[in-house]
Amino acid sequence: MASLSDLPLRDDLRGKAPYGAPMNPVKYALNVNENTHPVPEGVRQAILAEISQALESVNRYPDREFTALRASLAEYASHERVAGAIDPDMVWAANGSNEVIQQVLQAFGGPGRSVLGFPPSYSMHPIIAESTGTSWSVGSRESDFSLTPAGVQSAIRLTTPNLVFLCAPNNPTGTPVSLETIEAAYDATDGIVLVDEAYVEFRPEGAPTASELLPGRERLVISRTMSKAFAFAGARVGYLLADPAAIDALRLVRLPYHLSGITQAAALGALQHAEIMLSMVSDIREQRDRLLRELPELGFTARESAANFVLFGGIDDPQQLFQDLLEHDILIRDVGIEGHLRVTAGTEEETTVFLDTLARLRT
Ligand SMILES: *Cc1c(COP(=O)(O)O)cnc(C)c1O
Repeated sequence: MASLSDLPLRDDLRGKAPYGAPMNPVKYALNVNENTHPVPEGVRQAILAEISQALESVNRYPDREFTALRASLAEYASHERVAGAIDPDMVWAANGSNEVIQQVLQAFGGPGRSVLGFPPSYSMHPIIAESTGTSWSVGSRESDFSLTPAGVQSAIRLTTPNLVFLCAPNNPTGTPVSLETIEAAYDATDGIVLVDEAYVEFRPEGAPTASELLPGRERLVISRTMSKAFAFAGARVGYLLADPAAIDALRLVRLPYHLSGITQAAALGALQHAEIMLSMVSDIREQRDRLLRELPELGFTARESAANFVLFGGIDDPQQLFQDLLEHDILIRDVGIEGHLRVTAGTEEETTVFLDTLARLRT
């Protein structure tokens, strides 16, 4: 059998490891921040009807511009936005927001260019940077993992990147990012500022999103996903909100017909029932707040979170605790932060099992 080192692989990919969240079949999978509530039966039927219709023309290439889906995503993203409606030509979509981010780097990054990130943050950001030949620079966070306008600006001045990645709220720490910090980043660079809002639906009620900053900022791009709050991780749909000019740039690098007719139909069906799809968000927020309350009662430190997960610390041996939980059929995530582990807020029952098991392991 040949091994990877026998192949004429690109030099810059030698020795690299692929994205590797473990995929153990367990009863309580609280490791990748999915919405653990299944899609309700009524919505499944509606999605099936849309897919069935799409199959009638599956002999033809799909709408390359996914016009109906962009209109539907625009309408969805316009809710709660103070700065007015999002136009469909300000929306782009792809197979998960990871693909959206890859397209942003293909268009604005690449060999000879660099992107600045602020670890600990989403582990795929440097991996996608490397795979597009974009060099990865890092700035630092405050000790509570937050970002400040001044801190972000000084990192930008120091590294002069072509792109800046801000994860709001940040995965894996849960830390929110203020609009002032995003504005400060934008003002300090002539490059692209990408705000990864994968967890935006879990923000505190009434809190503004980065989309409020889009008017007049053609270098600001906001990636979103249906994989988390929307309970649609298996369908692979992510999207981008940006100035139409930035979206024109993505058309230069996307593969023709990258979004299948089946995917477009499934996403449309789900978006037609957005209210039901998102009805579990407040329950999930409650379970997150319960984790934030009860983890300290067990002697752990819980980090502020505006997402559907909690990073908790004060663990002597994270790998051992991870393993002990796994033996109880509970899978959480070791994100490589010293003394910490991350857990997804699931259903009330899942959260109870997790907290009860943790309490027993702790004593
Ligand atoms: C989960 C996650 C994504 C989602 O990726 P998809 O490809 O849309 O499933 C993107 N960004 C962050 C920070 C995430 O945690």
